[in-house]
Amino acid sequence: MALDRASSEREDPARIGQLREDPDARAVAAGRDGVLVCDRAGTALLRARLPDPPGPEPILLGLERGTALFAVDLEELPASERAAMTDGGRVLALREAGAALPHSEAGLAAYLVALLNWHRSHRFCANCGAATAIGQAGYSRRCPRCETVHFPRTDPVVIMTVEHQRRLLLGRRVGWPAGRGSLLAGFVSPGESAEEAVIREVHEESGILAHDPRFVTSQPWPFPSSLMLGFEAQSDGGEPHARDGELEEVGWFAFEAVRAAAQDRNPDLQLPPRVSVARLLIERWVALQLA
Ligand SMILES: [Zn+2]
Repeated sequence: MALDRASSEREDPARIGQLREDPDARAVAAGRDGVLVCDRAGTALLRARLPDPPGPEPILLGLERGTALFAVDLEELPASERAAMTDGGRVLALREAGAALPHSEAGLAAYLVALLNWHRSHRFCANCGAATAIGQAGYSRRCPRCETVHFPRTDPVVIMTVEHQRRLLLGRRVGWPAGRGSLLAGFVSPGESAEEAVIREVHEESGILAHDPRFVTSQPWPFPSSLMLGFEAQSDGGEPHARDGELEEVGWFAFEAVRAAAQDRNPDLQLPPRVSVARLLIERWVALQLA
């Protein structure tokens, strides 16, 4: 994402005021239904002028080529301002936006939605119940009564390839259509390392013992505010079976079947969309088998 998060500017309210008054300042917006995009030269987030008046609490996303980019929650705008802001654009569900937007814009959309979701659900202090106010131009909320400062929370989720003899462990979640499969995944528990979470999740969901988890890559995932930690792990095999109610089916998939699915030519196996870290890890596993 080509955005300077403006860490030092955030600490200076006067500087934030200047940035807001700059006529070149822009805002990107989202509501509960998705993000505001436009289709002028390819699909991108719509950079709108700031609402007038700009509202009491600015949320600064960062600086884009030196000019400020703010976040606006469409749910908070009166109808007339919302209409003015969305003029020339359309609201696109975030999952669709992930596929329609170029990579850097998808990253910005994830950032925008994660931050707005957090503000929307943390209006009150978890410590004493008083109404909180925005701090650090949107990077925290401060309680005026007990002075607790609240920060946006990110929930770590581990997701992993588990391999045994050129086969990959894939599961179908409850509610997914027949033929859809993806990697196993789950939240990291309090007091647990990500590596421990990989081994525990694989065992809980499939009965398979994984070992040697190694970190590969990560991806922010705003449903609602997760950080996906992608791992690769090995296994000594065994017969997987769905155990904890999250998966409808789980099994080993041979290399050729996974490779065909990754090339969208396996009618019996649909993999997750290309925007997901799951797909990236699966395609990486296929490439490593060919290397
Ligand atoms: Zn408080």
